Amino acid sequence: MLFQEVSDSFEKTKKTTSRLEITSILAGLFKKTKTADIKRLCYLLQGVVQPSFAGIEIGMGEKLAERSVSLTTGQTQKEVEEDYKKTGDLSKTTRNAMQKRKQSSLTKDDLTLEKVFDNLYKISTTSGSGSVEMKIKLLSELLSNARPEEAEIIMKIITGKISSGFAEQTIISALNESREGSKESQEELERAYYLTSDLGDVAEVLFNKGFEEIKKVKPVPFKPIMPALAERLANAEEIIKKLGECVADYKYDGFRLQVHLKNNEIQIFSRRQERMTHMFPDLIEAVKKQVKAKEIIFEGEAISFDEKNQTFLPFQVTITRKRKHEVEKRSKAIPLRLYAFDLLYLDGEDYTKKKYVERRKKLEETIKEGDKIHLSTQKMVKTAEELDRYFNEALKKGLEGVIAKDLNAPYTVGARKFAWIKLKKSYESKIADTIDATIVGYYYGKGKRTKLGVGGLLTAVYDNKNEKFKTIAKLGTGFSEEQLEWFSKNLKPLKEKPENVESILKANVWVEPLIVVTIKADEITKSTIHTCAFKEEQGLALRFPRLTQIRTDKKPSDSTTEKEVIEMFRMQSEKQA
Ligand code: ATP
Repeated sequence: MLFQEVSDSFEKTKKTTSRLEITSILAGLFKKTKTADIKRLCYLLQGVVQPSFAGIEIGMGEKLAERSVSLTTGQTQKEVEEDYKKTGDLSKTTRNAMQKRKQSSLTKDDLTLEKVFDNLYKISTTSGSGSVEMKIKLLSELLSNARPEEAEIIMKIITGKISSGFAEQTIISALNESREGSKESQEELERAYYLTSDLGDVAEVLFNKGFEEIKKVKPVPFKPIMPALAERLANAEEIIKKLGECVADYKYDGFRLQVHLKNNEIQIFSRRQERMTHMFPDLIEAVKKQVKAKEIIFEGEAISFDEKNQTFLPFQVTITRKRKHEVEKRSKAIPLRLYAFDLLYLDGEDYTKKKYVERRKKLEETIKEGDKIHLSTQKMVKTAEELDRYFNEALKKGLEGVIAKDLNAPYTVGARKFAWIKLKKSYESKIADTIDATIVGYYYGKGKRTKLGVGGLLTAVYDNKNEKFKTIAKLGTGFSEEQLEWFSKNLKPLKEKPENVESILKANVWVEPLIVVTIKADEITKSTIHTCAFKEEQGLALRFPRLTQIRTDKKPSDSTTEKEVIEMFRMQSEKQA
């Protein structure tokens, strides 16, 4: 396939913001794509050359990319940098430089998708001495054969900006549309993706074998499964009304891990499907000792535990285990326990489709109790009083609350459903849960904060239907000095408001929507200056928002959704009534 076909479609997607139109443009592109190319194309549209859990970034820094542009176009690197300062977008700068290039275009080879993929793949896997020059050469080779609009997309892929135009969900819908699929086949495709986290593979199965095979996709050890998530309800009565007799599980405030084992090899993934195996030598040892299976995928919450005083330690302590350095030392200083709470796959069998009670029973049979790995503590409850009593017991133990689980529900891969319902302590506030929001901009600091650059944050929740971020709060309190410094270092400034952000307020500096923070607030109130729920409620905002955590374990698309905020707002009004 010629890469020009990709760039033509991309140019079309830039002219619209309608998700439906973007989907059908991509579907048109997929129709023209041969089976041999579909995997490559899906990866490139996600800005990767391997599924993201492989942890391999294309990894070419901007400076190197600028050198390639300069080498290809004959502009000096200074000229490239000057233009980049003006546009704030390296892919636009590349396009400009390519347009100004005087060289004859007659001698060019047409770029194929395969060639682009291969060179990017090589760039991502080259390391060691001489690799810098090699990377520059590989990129220059692509650019010198590219039309300006092709060069722009290549650069968007390299700088990780390709996916700001459309999210994975849109690619899946487009795959479905390109094969004239139905609503059901769309759900099957989503499920296959959530089970394997590998869109390239799923697309290849679809193109090779069709929807029937997609239905048969099951979990594969070492490919992370996207987690089932918990819904909220206002109180114990509503939970019992919804589920009837159910099980209440202690809710541990640590971080979620997914453990994969096959033929004595073990890998551990985070909630956002990153490999974290090397961080937990202590848990790896424990899995070897305590898990009796040839092949298994199970989930649990890791939490630090003070063995001497027999108490759970706060999240702020537990999270310090998620570091790449001094792993052994940390594992001794801050021992973890893993509370296993669900079974997803066992010895060739897909457990996600089985009822909760069956999964739990098997989990109990497979995990031998020991020091490190425990089963989550739980109790069957029939009435709201029983649930409340158990909830209070959990709080007394220093836990966050409980999660009520539907006895007959399957594991709801990648989705927030009422199969699990959380009940958390609500402190003094009217809303019973925190909000996870993505930072979309910041305000300059005043006084002591001036020197740090960042003073306040503009944060947004996620409208997953339209793939847009909508603002909900300006955050000015709750930061420590270290956090402000961290923001100054890690927020990525932009020249303009990104297209996937809807905002009435203007930030001093817009940033790439990349970083998620947890916010505690007193209540959700109506507000016409925020775009969250603007259509439904004329705008919703958080009252007295304060930062409680930076959530590097969450992707921006894992932010609380606009729909959830509307539900929480309505739940809160009921509570007051
Ligand atoms: P998310 O639901 O998006 O994970 P969150 O991180 O804010 O959001 P909550 O929604 O409050 O967490 O609670 C769900 C999380 O609780 C799970 O993702 C899991 O990490 C954790 N958890 C702790 N104990 C359990 C348990 N017994 N069963 C299931 N999940 C548990």
